[in-house]
Amino acid sequence: MSTIEDPIQRAYQTFQDELIEAGLLIPMGVPGLYARSGLFESVVEQFEKFVTAMAAERKSEVIWFPPVFNRRHYLCTDHIETFPNLMGSVHSFTGKDREHLELIRKRKSEEDWTRDLNATEVMLLPAACYPLYPTATGVLPEEGRTVDLRSFVFRHEPSIDPARLQSFRMHEYVRLGTPEQALEHREYWLQRAEEILRAIGLDVTPVLANDPFFGRGARMMAATQQEQNLKFEMVVPVATAEKPTAVASCNYHLNHFGHSFGIRTADGNEAHSACVGFGLERVALALFRAHGFNPASWPASVKKVLAL
Ligand code: AMP
Ligand code: ZN
Repeated sequence: MSTIEDPIQRAYQTFQDELIEAGLLIPMGVPGLYARSGLFESVVEQFEKFVTAMAAERKSEVIWFPPVFNRRHYLCTDHIETFPNLMGSVHSFTGKDREHLELIRKRKSEEDWTRDLNATEVMLLPAACYPLYPTATGVLPEEGRTVDLRSFVFRHEPSIDPARLQSFRMHEYVRLGTPEQALEHREYWLQRAEEILRAIGLDVTPVLANDPFFGRGARMMAATQQEQNLKFEMVVPVATAEKPTAVASCNYHLNHFGHSFGIRTADGNEAHSACVGFGLERVALALFRAHGFNPASWPASVKKVLAL
């Protein structure tokens, strides 16, 4: 029996235990890091096909980025100012033989060898859309651009909540263009994401949201983001109905990335951008929670939509 007193934390632990027991998640010894079973992945795959079919009318360009990107580009965003606690920086060994011997000595004597490493030229992606902006520098076509992206991303937020992972996949649709084009995209996806999630039997609610900014300015930044209606989340009960989980988000970035990366619209103004992001593991977990661990016994309507 669990000894955790807080009911929400207890619900997280119970759900995590059930998922591991069922073999859907395989723990890797670090909170928020799991391998997924074949069954789990088949659900993700079918959901991906469904989203792609539902988004087809938007005619997006597909781009696949690796899960790391240029450190210089990372520093052109304000991630280090706003979410330093979530970042992932890739370091490696760049010394010669002598430094290597020292590294091995430290590792054997269990001293801290990580300080002998140096930062590489890459960072882990904090969101699937980050690497897109630096590749879009310059002038956009008249009709703007709509891009379909998916990637593993990293966020250092260890947790017992099985829906709060350190390494997870986001499937995003990003629009670069005029303020009207970006806002239209956000409005479209607010409706479409809800429709998609309802079609798979999830009891979803759209809510005004804010990002978990770090540090002293956090409260102000969160309040401003809310006042400007910049972020909405689609929340669903997963581990507990008391604290529903965001399975997708719809964000309007104003000219934030257009300004940082010199992206311009055909009329010469700074581009605005908006994105919708589906958290793929969270969608799968919400499905397992809502309909049970065996997709064969899910409601017929859900099986039909997901072709399971
Ligand atoms: P965000 O960029 O924070 O709006 O995240 C986009 C989507 O990714 C969210 O709506 C979630 O579905 C998912 N997500 C965010 N953080 C996590 C996490 N730690 N673990 C799993 N999924 C996450
Ligand atoms: Zn995004």
